[in-house]
Amino acid sequence: MKDKEEVCLGIECSWEKEYASISPGIVQTSSFQFKNFKHYVEVNTHQKKAYTYTRGDNPTLKILEDKIAKLEGGECARSFASGMGAISSTILSLVSSHDHVLIVNTVYGSSLKLVKNLSRFGIECCQVNISQTSDLLEYIQDNTKMIYFESPSSQKFEMLDLKWISDIAKQRHIYTVIDNTWATPLFQNPIEYGIDVVIHSCSKYIGGHSDIVGGIVISSYEIMKKIDDFGSILLGATMSPMNAWLAIRGLRTLPTRLKQQNESIQKVIDYMLEDHRIEMVYHPYCCQKELSKTYLKGQGSLFSFVLKDANESIIETFIDSLKYFTLAYSWGGFESLVMPVFKGDNEKELKERGLAFGHIRMYIGLEDVNLLIKDIQYSLDKAYGKDSH
Ligand SMILES: *Cc1c(COP(=O)(O)O)cnc(C)c1O
Repeated sequence: MKDKEEVCLGIECSWEKEYASISPGIVQTSSFQFKNFKHYVEVNTHQKKAYTYTRGDNPTLKILEDKIAKLEGGECARSFASGMGAISSTILSLVSSHDHVLIVNTVYGSSLKLVKNLSRFGIECCQVNISQTSDLLEYIQDNTKMIYFESPSSQKFEMLDLKWISDIAKQRHIYTVIDNTWATPLFQNPIEYGIDVVIHSCSKYIGGHSDIVGGIVISSYEIMKKIDDFGSILLGATMSPMNAWLAIRGLRTLPTRLKQQNESIQKVIDYMLEDHRIEMVYHPYCCQKELSKTYLKGQGSLFSFVLKDANESIIETFIDSLKYFTLAYSWGGFESLVMPVFKGDNEKELKERGLAFGHIRMYIGLEDVNLLIKDIQYSLDKAYGKDSH
């Protein structure tokens, strides 16, 4: 963890460059000048390297990419305009028509929709929910080219055995791609266990202040060449230098924020497990003790739970009574958030996804954890009647 803190806090500027500013420059440019015709030819014939155009490379983006590659233990990283930009560029660069993409467990909703849409281009997809990693074997086909997953997954935070997946995938020349947004590069490093590609939405913990949308991909040079040549350059979801700068700033406090959030989430879950108005709690700290011990160096503070005997009025009173939890999408910022999966008319969809009507997702931010727990308790009292606990 100490090495990682150094990467997050490390200053990239030197006395020779950037006026020795502590904070790096935002190189807000689309294009870069060649010195002369000779230089132009040398760069274009790959004899010399130079920044030429921000859709390809930019010094501010490079600072972020080098830091995250180091944190994940990967050879290189490439930033994108959003997490979905990173996910779509990766998938579209690595699979072709007639290939099969295996989506495991409850991944982020838009990722699932994206892969399902690829049938328009002749790419097969199947999504499977498994409780044991080894069940995966049943679903691998001769044309499986990619296993795409999250661990912990979205909504129920199920974990998979990364080493097991990478071992069976390597034997079959299948790419393994993990969305590691929940754990951050500080708490889980899938490349250590042989996973090929790691993706983060920088909109969450890395940015950390609910003020940017961004994404990043980490892999070997060999795989990144494919993602660069197609996904990055041709699909063009480039991160802006300003957003890269904000993501670098977010990294400065990532170790400190996560240290506090790791402690807070364990206290909140200990409380939730004791309150009988909570039917179920989903988080690796309570549901995935073994895999959590193997793979996680700390706990992310996004979790979910099910309100007992929930009806619309209980959900409404609970959500609207919360003072410190804002009803909003996304997570990973400084502020605590809450979001029920029931949105007014999606009961059928919830059944299909195996989610209970009273399933609530919560994100523990940087506020005093005792205040947050009191707030939850107060709102449960309101929702179920004062003497209910
Ligand atoms: C938010 C999120 C994404 C999408 O990221 P954007 O930056 O919003 O495009 C992908 N995966 C997970 C797990 C997320 O939480």
